[in-house]
Amino acid sequence: MSDCIFCKIVAGTIPCRKIYEDDYVLAFHDINPAAPVHFLVVPKMHVASLADCVAEHHAGLLARVMLAVAKVARDIGLENGYRTIINTGEDGGQTVFHLHAHGLGGGKPRPLGDALPAAN
Ligand code: 5GP
Ligand code: ZN
Repeated sequence: MSDCIFCKIVAGTIPCRKIYEDDYVLAFHDINPAAPVHFLVVPKMHVASLADCVAEHHAGLLARVMLAVAKVARDIGLENGYRTIINTGEDGGQTVFHLHAHGLGGGKPRPLGDALPAAN
């Protein structure tokens, strides 16, 4: 997708602090970290969001994204654990519409309740 920030990062036309890449995924540090360690894993193929994962081939893609989160967390040394987040769509707080998993670690996380949608 020509207008997608993460496609441009995958293509190398926007720089990133790369951590890991293989044929299917790219992992890099988030530009605006929300935790002491905050990285993103994106599929190299453009998929707008988790809500767009509907076909059989998306199963493999999602598995590769999650395996990369686990590998990067291991390699970075997050042996105490980490939080994995996929924001989906407007109500999910997604701001970049190219599927990505956040890996957050390096300190105690806020209670998950802080991340729940506000009740009306
Ligand atoms: P979302 O809110 O869509 O789940 O997360 C998007 C994430 O992408 C945010 O944490 C934001 O800081 C990060 N981000 C946005 N633009 C860039 C960029 O150009 N480079 C990097 N490394 N991260 C970005
Ligand atoms: Zn994209």
